[in-house]
Amino acid sequence: GPKSKEMLARRAAALPAGLGKSTEVVVEKAEGALVWDVDGNQLIDFAGGIGMVNLGHRPQVVVDAIKDQMDKYLHTGALVTTFEPYLEFAELLNKIIPGDFPKKTLLACSGSEAVENAVQIARYYTKRPAVICFEGAYHGRTLLTLSLTSKYALFKKGFGSYAQDIYRFHSPNVYRKPDNFTEEEYIDFCIERFDQNLISHVDPSSVAAIIIEPVQGEGGFIPVPKRFLEKIRKVCDEHGIVFIADEVQAGAGRTGKFLSIEHSGVIPDMVTMAKSIGSGLPISAVTGRAEMMDAPHLGGVGGTYSGSPIAVVAALATVKQINTPEFLEKSVHVGDAIRTRLNTMADKFSCIGDVRGIGAMLVVEFVKDKKTKEPDMDFAMAVIKKSVANGLILIRAGLYTNCIRFLPPIVITDEQLHEGLDVIENAIQEVLN
Ligand code: PMP
Repeated sequence: GPKSKEMLARRAAALPAGLGKSTEVVVEKAEGALVWDVDGNQLIDFAGGIGMVNLGHRPQVVVDAIKDQMDKYLHTGALVTTFEPYLEFAELLNKIIPGDFPKKTLLACSGSEAVENAVQIARYYTKRPAVICFEGAYHGRTLLTLSLTSKYALFKKGFGSYAQDIYRFHSPNVYRKPDNFTEEEYIDFCIERFDQNLISHVDPSSVAAIIIEPVQGEGGFIPVPKRFLEKIRKVCDEHGIVFIADEVQAGAGRTGKFLSIEHSGVIPDMVTMAKSIGSGLPISAVTGRAEMMDAPHLGGVGGTYSGSPIAVVAALATVKQINTPEFLEKSVHVGDAIRTRLNTMADKFSCIGDVRGIGAMLVVEFVKDKKTKEPDMDFAMAVIKKSVANGLILIRAGLYTNCIRFLPPIVITDEQLHEGLDVIENAIQEVLN
């Protein structure tokens, strides 16, 4: 529409060219699973601001909590004063994050900051420098977290040099395993390679932390096999290494449990959370073993904005709602509905190589040929373009940028969900024609 066109021109003139956008949608307002643009079009949101709004756009409990807090104080600073919402939110996370041991929580403003803090605290606690991360990982865009991130061309090209003492290991991707391995043999192979890497890349006695996304996010919604997570836990126990689970994208009830790692039963030492825990407000958290979180000296952690009261009350209201059986069941329901439809599409369309994910964290991977699995990035983009034109917001993912990921608000209605899936199915058919 004309208003959108004008604002997109202003965006191009005023904002840096490197700030990408997966759609040309210019927003007027958003509510639940719906977004309206400035030209009066209504869209269904399957991107959720990149997994920010599991509880939907503007959930009433969150809006009310923010309004209440606005009348009290906006900022006095956690480095200067104490305020109850911060305490209450930390106490809640300390209670609901798995692990039968004392925990403490530090708040920050973005996923990157949470990861940065977790790694630095692990280094302080272990008095060791090295960090192990994985191929396909995404942990953020600050120097340390970008150094931990994989996928060179899109995220890292031109920004070096990177932080030191980072070692990247192979991470299982069952869809792209060699054909001559069964799934179990492939996981065995990945575990063997992990042991080899502890000889060829880095000595375990110098490793502070192993950081992993239990379901890889930007990498293409790749669930890490349970046995691989158990292997990491074992290596961490043997060598006194801190196990950090990055739940920034997979957490907050997306997969049907509060954290995605809960599906494996593996207990991490530290967890990073962000995105949907704040329903869109800038807040992130590191929750971990109390003795680790207490390691840095007095004054060694914190930030001016960290634990902003408005963001904290929003997060408190959000997490209380997410951590209920009803919400987590709804996640599973939404996931099942999407998975069923996508599997039917995969049978029908030769361009769909894989449908995977846990709970409502699902992805469809487009390939030029089901057998060779050659990634088809342009196809994914074409489907997104057509879908947006027909009222559905979508985003890509994957090391080869050939996947479309599903991150709809969990509060979406069945009708909206199926309407959205119809749009995608028609878009795929049209792109194929
Ligand atoms: N970790 C993971 C797993 C993520 O998906 C992201 C964001 N996509 C981050 C960290 C970084 O979060 P932020 O963009 O809030 O800094």
